Amino acid sequence: MRVIGEKFTSIERNLPVSDAGRVCLEPECETQLSRYNDQEFCSLHAPMVVPRMRGKILDD
Ligand SMILES: [Zn+2]
Repeated sequence: MRVIGEKFTSIERNLPVSDAGRVCLEPECETQLSRYNDQEFCSLHAPMVVPRMRGKILDD
């Protein structure tokens, strides 16, 4: 199924973006996120994409 001519999805349109910007979703973290940044966490708390190495996940 193809959707043609729909450049802006409703998902993107529904993202709340305030002039004040947003803060990291980490409860204790008040790091402001850029309004142009669609991340939900700051760089410290951003879920890391950890490549699986030798089938182990390090639990820090
Ligand atoms: Zn954070």
